[in-house]
Amino acid sequence: MRFASTSHPGRSTSFRDALFTGLAPDGALFHPVGAPDLSGLVPSLERLPFFQDVAAEACAALLAPDIPEDRARSLARRAFSFSPVLRRVDEHVLLLELFHGPTCAFKDFGAQFIAAAMEALLEGETGRIQILVATSGDTGGAVAHAFHGRANIDVVILYPSGRVSDLQEKQLTTLGGNVHALEVQGSFDDCQRLVKEAFQAGTLRSRLRLTSANSINIGRLIPQCLYYLYAGTRREELRGSSPTICVPSGNFGNLTAGVYAWRWGLPVRSFIAATNVNDVVPVYLKSGRFDPRPSARTLSNAMDVGNPSNFERLQEIFQGSWEGMASRIEGRSVTDTRTRETMREVHAAYGLLLDPHTAVGYAAARDHLAGGERSHDGPGSAAEQVIVLSTAHPAKFSDIVRDATGIVPEMPERLAECLKLPKQARQIGATFKELSEYLLESFG
Ligand SMILES: *Cc1c(COP(=O)(O)O)cnc(C)c1O
Repeated sequence: MRFASTSHPGRSTSFRDALFTGLAPDGALFHPVGAPDLSGLVPSLERLPFFQDVAAEACAALLAPDIPEDRARSLARRAFSFSPVLRRVDEHVLLLELFHGPTCAFKDFGAQFIAAAMEALLEGETGRIQILVATSGDTGGAVAHAFHGRANIDVVILYPSGRVSDLQEKQLTTLGGNVHALEVQGSFDDCQRLVKEAFQAGTLRSRLRLTSANSINIGRLIPQCLYYLYAGTRREELRGSSPTICVPSGNFGNLTAGVYAWRWGLPVRSFIAATNVNDVVPVYLKSGRFDPRPSARTLSNAMDVGNPSNFERLQEIFQGSWEGMASRIEGRSVTDTRTRETMREVHAAYGLLLDPHTAVGYAAARDHLAGGERSHDGPGSAAEQVIVLSTAHPAKFSDIVRDATGIVPEMPERLAECLKLPKQARQIGATFKELSEYLLESFG
C-alpha cells in the first residue's frame, strides 16, 4: 500500500513519509492507493479470537513491504493493550464498544497506533522529534497518553484555557515526563492558528523537528480499519450475515476507515452515517449538494463539525460519484431531544448507559431498521444485523447521562485516578512569540 494526495493521485509516497508529513505537500490529504485485496485473508481472520491477532495479521498485509511483516505485527501488538468489545443488545442491534483504552474514547486506537509507529520508525536515529497538537478537548488526552514515555519523542499540547472540561484538562496535564501541556489564554481557533504558524516558521524548522499528529494524519486512520476488520469477521456473533455498520460521525474519519475496510474486502452490507443536527453529509447523501456551514453546539459535542475534513477522502473512494456513495452509505441525523430520549429508553429497556455520541448512532440504527421495506433480506428483514459503533464511555459525559437517565455512570478506575493527580501546565498568551520562545527554550 502506498499513499497519494487526494489532489495529485498519480504521485505516491511511503507510509513513513505520509506518517511524518501529515499533510501532503500540496496541502491535500493523503489516501491509501494500491491496497492489497484482503478478501482472501478474511476466512483466516474469522478464526482468530483476539483483536490483537486480527490487528497483527491485517497490519502485516497492509503495511508490508514498507514495514516488514514481522515488524508490522509487533507494532500492532505493542500499540493495542486494549480491545474493542462486541455486545449484543437485541435481535438486530449490536454495540461495538471502542472505549476500553486509556482515555475511554475510540480516539485511543488512532493515537496509540501513530505513537507506536513513530517510535518504531525512529528507532536507531539520533535526536528527538517534537509533536505539536492543538486540542479542543478529547484528542489531546488520547495523544498525551499515547506518546507518554515513548523514546525520542516530546509532545506539546496546546489547549484553550477554561474551555475544556475538568476531566479533559486532567487527562492532558497530569502525565508529565515527555508530555508538555500549554494552557493558552485564548480559544481553540487561537491554538490551531499558533500550531499552523509554528509549522511555517523558518527559525523553528531549522532548530527543531516539528511533526503533527492531528486527526487528518493517515497514521491515525489506518488503525481504525482494524476494529472494523475484527467486528466484521465475528461470524458467530453476526449469525453468519454481513453487517450494516452505523457510525456516529463528526469529521468522518471513523466512517472513512470503515469504508476503506470494505473496499479492501471486508464483507459489509452497507453503512449508516449518523450525525447530530450538523448534518452536512446526510444532506449531501440525500440531495447531492455539499454545503459546509458553521457548526451548531449539541450534546454530542465531539461531532459538532460543519465542514468535515474527511469528506475529501470519501469522495476519493467513490471517485466523486454521488450515486456511488449514496448507494453504500445512508445518512441520518438525530436531534438533541431524540438523543436524550434514546439514552433514557435504552437504559429502561436494557439497563445500558450510552454516552450521547453513541446514542446518536443507536437512534439512527433504530430509524434505519424501522424504515426498511421488510422484504426478504432488505433493511429491517429478520436477518439484518446492525453494528453501532460506541465511541465513548458514558462516564466521560456523566452530567448529560445523569440528566437523561437519572443514573450517574460508574467512573472507570483510570479516569478516577487521573482526577486525583495535580495539573501541570505552562500558561502562555495566544501569541506566536510566546509559543516560539517556549519551544526554543525547551527543545532548541
Ligand atoms: C471524535 C469523536 C466522534 C466523531 O468521530 P469522527 O471520526 O470525527 O467522525 C464521535 N464520538 C466521539 C466520542 C468522538 O470523540
